[in-house]
Amino acid sequence: MDTINYLTTVIFGAGAVGSLAQVLSEVGLSKPLLVSDAGVKAAGLLDRPEFAVLSGMPTFLEVPSNPTESAVLAGLSIYREHGCDGVVAIGGGSPIDLAKGITLLATHEGPLEQYAAIFGGVSRISAKVAPLVAIPTTAGTGSEVGRAALITLDDGRKLGFISPHLIPNRAICDPHLTTGLPPGLTAATGLDALSHCVESYLSPRYNPPAEAIARDGFERIWRALPIAFREPTNLDARTELMMGALEGGMTFQKGLGAVHSLSHALGGLKDLKLHHGVLNAVLMPEVIRWNCEVPEAARKVALLEELVDLPTGSLADALDDLNRQLGITVKLSDLGVPRDIIAWVCERAVADHSHVTNPRSLSAAEYAQIIEAVY
Ligand SMILES: [Zn+2]
Repeated sequence: MDTINYLTTVIFGAGAVGSLAQVLSEVGLSKPLLVSDAGVKAAGLLDRPEFAVLSGMPTFLEVPSNPTESAVLAGLSIYREHGCDGVVAIGGGSPIDLAKGITLLATHEGPLEQYAAIFGGVSRISAKVAPLVAIPTTAGTGSEVGRAALITLDDGRKLGFISPHLIPNRAICDPHLTTGLPPGLTAATGLDALSHCVESYLSPRYNPPAEAIARDGFERIWRALPIAFREPTNLDARTELMMGALEGGMTFQKGLGAVHSLSHALGGLKDLKLHHGVLNAVLMPEVIRWNCEVPEAARKVALLEELVDLPTGSLADALDDLNRQLGITVKLSDLGVPRDIIAWVCERAVADHSHVTNPRSLSAAEYAQIIEAVY
């Protein structure tokens, strides 16, 4: 038996942010906490007239580049102090994931750790989770329609919190908000979204609707990403990317794979602060080579190649080329990853929630070989 679930109402398209006031009233939010980050504020996005409805509302902007337990608790204390009735998150995956942590702990007893998926938290998260409106400013994580939040606990473990109740009540996706994103971030977030489509498509779980969405998202991102990278204000390319990222988020429920089990572990390294999308971009070609040893995965990869007019068997090499074209380094050593943490990273990868849905079952030693190939 399988569960197939599509829940979020999405308001999508150029100008969609104009619906915010209406959305707040539909969701029943009269005093939301605004969660965003310093980068979004510095880019001037919070000053847009469509967000005037949020002026004077309690605000939390101290979102770290990878959401942490302590930041969740800091946001939660503002939420409680002002008697907020929900959260509006404006930003990339980090503010949206952090907001999910706040809406969870606003209505569920702490500590946060007990709600992590690997500790059986899925069944402890109830429908009481406070309302959340998500407004992405990148085309990447798909967290605006996803049921997961990745949060690093104070002891350094980066854990997945997963529940249908963590899916935002509304997502407002407006490509205008992404036209100011610099090329480097466009590439990193876009390649993250591409990896969601590829990994969820290859996941062996039975969910044909998710697979159809993953293929569609893959094709849109593949075609639009190089254009948005070269021409940041190209609204058509930005719209395609945003839809692809949204679709990547919708397919998450099928599970991800080895790219994410490794990038979650590497992304938890406190001193390095590696970008999730860059890590996925570096790891994806090699993981695809490994996965294509499984006939069913090779068959699916060939279907993806057909969609974007690539010769059969060339996707991994084409992804290496795409990385170079988008200015992404192809080596983990260039990112400053020290060799002596590889064994630790591989142990964490085997324990990650994405590990079980990789099409090829991998041991810690095999993960180490993948890392060596891109080190
Ligand atoms: Zn990701």
